[in-house]
Amino acid sequence: MIRKASPSPNVELDDEQRSLLAAIGEKLQKELQEESEKREQQHLEGAIRWLQDKWGDQACPYCQHVEWQVGTPLEISALNGEVMSPAFPVMCGNCGHTTFVNAIRAGLLAEDGNDE
Ligand SMILES: [Zn+2]
Repeated sequence: MIRKASPSPNVELDDEQRSLLAAIGEKLQKELQEESEKREQQHLEGAIRWLQDKWGDQACPYCQHVEWQVGTPLEISALNGEVMSPAFPVMCGNCGHTTFVNAIRAGLLAEDGNDE
């Protein structure tokens, strides 16, 4: 005998369940946010360490100031869809000249794009 599959029951949440779900969502979101802030901090610290090791007190080639600011790694994609290796920006704090350093070469990210 072939039976018609029973329709899936409608799940009705009461207020308590709804607020419990909302609280879980909020907590997860907060944890994700903290995780990403922590990773960003690690990237910045790693980038600064790497630059201090490789560049030392390197002056800006355009204005000769020695004051650099680093940002977290970015990924730049070409119009044809190819994605460049992730790189972090290094900006001269005086004239704004910005250059990019390969984040994999600097040891901030693993080859496959994940953190090491
Ligand atoms: Zn400069």
